[in-house]
Amino acid sequence: MINPFEDTIERLEELTVHCGNEHVRFSKQDLDLLSKPRRTLVVNFPVKMSDGSLKIINGYRVQYNDARGPTKGGIRFHPDVDLDEVKALALWMALKTAVLDLPFGGAKGGITINPKEMNQEDIESISRAFMRQIHHFVGASKDIPAPDVYTNAQVMAWMLDEYEKIKGRKEPGMITGKPIELGGSAGRDIATSLGGAYVLKEIAREYKLSDSPSVAIQGFGNAGMNMAKILKDWGYKIIAVSDSKGGVYSEEGLDVDNLINVKSSTGSVTNIEAKKITNSEILELVVDVLVPAALGGQITSENAENIKAKVVIELANGPVTREADKILHKNNIVVAPDILANAGGVTVSYFEWVQNNSDETWEKDVIFTKLEKKMIQAFQRVHELAVNIGSDHRTAAYILAINRIIDAEKKGVSQ
Ligand code: GLU
Repeated sequence: MINPFEDTIERLEELTVHCGNEHVRFSKQDLDLLSKPRRTLVVNFPVKMSDGSLKIINGYRVQYNDARGPTKGGIRFHPDVDLDEVKALALWMALKTAVLDLPFGGAKGGITINPKEMNQEDIESISRAFMRQIHHFVGASKDIPAPDVYTNAQVMAWMLDEYEKIKGRKEPGMITGKPIELGGSAGRDIATSLGGAYVLKEIAREYKLSDSPSVAIQGFGNAGMNMAKILKDWGYKIIAVSDSKGGVYSEEGLDVDNLINVKSSTGSVTNIEAKKITNSEILELVVDVLVPAALGGQITSENAENIKAKVVIELANGPVTREADKILHKNNIVVAPDILANAGGVTVSYFEWVQNNSDETWEKDVIFTKLEKKMIQAFQRVHELAVNIGSDHRTAAYILAINRIIDAEKKGVSQ
């Protein structure tokens, strides 16, 4: 298993070959500023469970870099969460907010639990107890959490309520991705997918994809499901999808509405009538567009040579490893990197935070217009840079982000 943090630090080291290029504003030494997180909080806390037992829960909050603003990033609940994963995710958030030019740094949190095996009461108790552990570390102008893998608006609501009870005041801007009733933003639920779809639209134009491109989506959580819905509406053909139980495939295209109904009533897309495929087979299908929308480390040096898609849109964080990237690039596969492709989520989180801080409520169409503009602008900057330095899009996105972070570091540090 590749360590995602070490893999990312090696990616940073590999960027040094570009130092000295007219488009690169940092030196090898400047990169040291990004080699370690600014602050790391590790907590182990007891929670009384609904069966009466007392369980020790472990959790993390890593604030990777705050040169460009308060740190920002989600909290994930997953049995595989560990410190190195959270550190990698926090670093990617710092890069992501910089690629989109949002006034934020990057952070991430995680709790090592499997919420799929827990009742709502226990998930609520753990969410509230975690906030009691981290409340002094977060805040609207300090560090702003949001949903991530296996967390949602309800979890954000419990955390916000706990935070406000401790502080004795309202502070909706301390967390984003919360329910609309508590100050959440219209469109935040589909923002990650819509942002990815806007990037895909640009790529489809730039690289001249066919009129009704075929798509395979790995993962049918919030991001994967909404991506299927949006792309179907835009005339794409969704030929395969999967979730943690496996996948389904149809050459003629799957019925997306039926998939959503069956997923919500039975818990898995595999319960529709269609040919079954595995989660690794879905990655290797002959398609125009592959959308990894589940977990990290899916395309590695083991299977990268088997990828046949023309374009990969990374809706998940970290689905392609460093070595796999090189193979995909060699095979002329265009990869829209996570720090660009899935940045729609944090971009609408930013809009939510602005609305909270200015007591405003924006309409959905205003939000989507702003989101589209931000995503297209970021794609164009990344694409231009990739063409100028002759690199893949991830390398260009990293350089664009690090230029901005290092500029802020240099301007902000007192002598
Ligand atoms: N968890 C999401 C991400 O990885 C959203 C973060 C946010 O909205 O702050 O980008």
